[in-house]
Amino acid sequence: MIAKFNFMMFMGDDDMFFIGVFGITSKDKLLRDSQVECKECNSLLPKKVIKRYNTFHVFFIPTVRWNLNYFCACPSCKSVFEIKKEKGQAYEENPNEELTYWDLKTVKKGKPLRFCKVCGAQVDKTHTFCPNCGAKQ
Ligand SMILES: [Zn+2]
Ligand SMILES: [Zn+2]
Repeated sequence: MIAKFNFMMFMGDDDMFFIGVFGITSKDKLLRDSQVECKECNSLLPKKVIKRYNTFHVFFIPTVRWNLNYFCACPSCKSVFEIKKEKGQAYEENPNEELTYWDLKTVKKGKPLRFCKVCGAQVDKTHTFCPNCGAKQ
């Protein structure tokens, strides 16, 4: 599941250089899903909440953790949102804590999916007519 979300795009060239040379790795941890409304497409589908941090390890023993970040990904439009560190930590530690619309900061805008009003087939945003039934959108 974690591999499905590729956050390599957030890393600069410097990070790429350090990895493997000084034993720094970037780790993703999947937290529980959030029902938060998507800021880009208003979808209420459960969103994956991901905690990302870098570790510095000596002989495979993690010694230092830093660069902690929390992200939230919309399965509908594939947008990625950053969550404030304090909010992310609270969300991780407290099972009653929920994310809200205002906690999401868009870092990658996805493409909202559109569906035909007549037959329900997926229609590209740029299409005026449904590719399945030909109904005007
Ligand atoms: Zn969305
Ligand atoms: Zn249709």
